[in-house]
Amino acid sequence: MLSSTDIALDERAEKLREALGTRVVLAGDPDYDAVRVPWNVAVEQRPFAVVTPESAEDVVAVVRAVTAAGLRLAPQSTGHAAPALADTDLSDVVLVRLAALRGVTVTPETRTAIVLGGSHWNDVLAAAAPYGLTALHGSAGDVSVAGYSLNGGVSFYARAHGLGVNAVRAVQMVTADGSLVRASAEENEDLFWAVRGGSGAFGIVVSLEIELLPYADVFAGMLLWDASHTPVVSRAWKDWTSSVPESVTSTLRVLHLPPLPELPPFLSGRSVVVIDGAVLESDARAAELLLPLRELAPEVDTFARIPAAALVQVHMDPPQPTPAMTRHRMLGSLPDEAVAAFVAVSEDPALFIAELRHVGGAASRPVPGGGAVSALAGDYVVHAIAVAPVPEAVPPALAAATAFVEAFEPWAHDALALTFLDGGMDRAFGFGASLDRLRAVKAQWDPRNVFAASNPV
Ligand SMILES: Cc1cc2nc3c(=O)[nH]c(=O)nc-3n(C[C@H](O)[C@H](O)[C@H](O)COP(=O)(O)OP(=O)(O)OC[C@H]3O[C@@H](n4cnc5c(N)ncnc54)[C@H](O)[C@@H]3O)c2cc1C
Repeated sequence: MLSSTDIALDERAEKLREALGTRVVLAGDPDYDAVRVPWNVAVEQRPFAVVTPESAEDVVAVVRAVTAAGLRLAPQSTGHAAPALADTDLSDVVLVRLAALRGVTVTPETRTAIVLGGSHWNDVLAAAAPYGLTALHGSAGDVSVAGYSLNGGVSFYARAHGLGVNAVRAVQMVTADGSLVRASAEENEDLFWAVRGGSGAFGIVVSLEIELLPYADVFAGMLLWDASHTPVVSRAWKDWTSSVPESVTSTLRVLHLPPLPELPPFLSGRSVVVIDGAVLESDARAAELLLPLRELAPEVDTFARIPAAALVQVHMDPPQPTPAMTRHRMLGSLPDEAVAAFVAVSEDPALFIAELRHVGGAASRPVPGGGAVSALAGDYVVHAIAVAPVPEAVPPALAAATAFVEAFEPWAHDALALTFLDGGMDRAFGFGASLDRLRAVKAQWDPRNVFAASNPV
């Protein structure tokens, strides 16, 4: 027998079908299982329905139809942050996948690009490179520009040029009442402030205008040693990061690589320690800066001048959907005891990657006229990634990632980096002092809390 809730859900489904036809994929439809899967395939997201709009007008129609049916919406471009969204009950949420809304137009004269709401960084790099331009992208090319930028965005340019969010000049978005609005420093200023950090909690972004960087090439690469060198390499990296100029942004990682045929034989099944990053200097000055690390005789050294678009390969992020659980903390500083903790806990083979990112510099300075998030409080991000290929592997993967970051508790800041948030944590720290104002702007633009986001306000 159907309960009254089932009947209500059926009515909502009927309303959606009536308004959107077969463009909406409902739970139970043959395609449902194919379209609901996010990039992070460890996450079993089961929304009420999934819709993949193909234009801004389509997004307007979707928002109107979904809200008229009494349901909520969650924008999702790729699902890299699906574990964070999984903290939200999706049983009355229509997932709006922006995979069909991709495209980039570069205006070299103003050094800007208009980027459609579901575009990936690879799309921007391909469009910008012919003009000798690049962008404040992160380590992976298949992350979306909107999801990365509007949640902060930490790149290998971060210490020199700040967070990705500060490169956003304007957004076009569909708000809770189904209007297509532009938000910038001149129009809907409160919304523009809020979406730069508040991201999907304020609406569905159908396009963004971003500022590009004037680099055709960049000195970047990685140094690799066997993991037995982790103590020496970690201490050297710590000393190095306390002396390098803001033109240098780098990470230190211990990788426990599984035995995989797609890996080069010398890496397959091995644990290694890697330093990678970018040095925004002349070749001679970059070589001078790298000397103390190169003196540690790395087994692999790829640091060289490369096309700026190739920077997205340096961190060796997985090119395909990956099941993973992650945790992170912001650290104010990196004393010797914290380095010793890194050396000890990074040995855990249950971790795929144990990482320290050097931020600080411009990434830690709030920007005048910036949005709800314009800087990161802290000089280092400690970040763990554990792979969970089957559902039973999720709890141990989470436990390994959590234990790793908890080892840094003595040096942790009451702050978080929103792009590295993977659920299960108190989000308020990520918004810092902006939280109250974000909630006030949310109450004005989305009073019924129609939009569900990876980082709810
Ligand atoms: C392999 C890998 C490498 C990464 N490297 C970095 C890195 O170097 N630096 C860094 O800072 N982060 C990095 N991240 C984190 C990544 O930036 C965040 O997970 C980011 O939120 C992903 O955005 P997405 O849109 O691709 O993911 P999604 O899960 O699709 O979106 C995340 C959230 O962004 C919002 N959103 C996305 N698109 C829209 C839209 N069009 N309109 C409104 N809201 C939207 C929604 O709130 C959504 O819940 C990495 C993640 C992975 C898995």
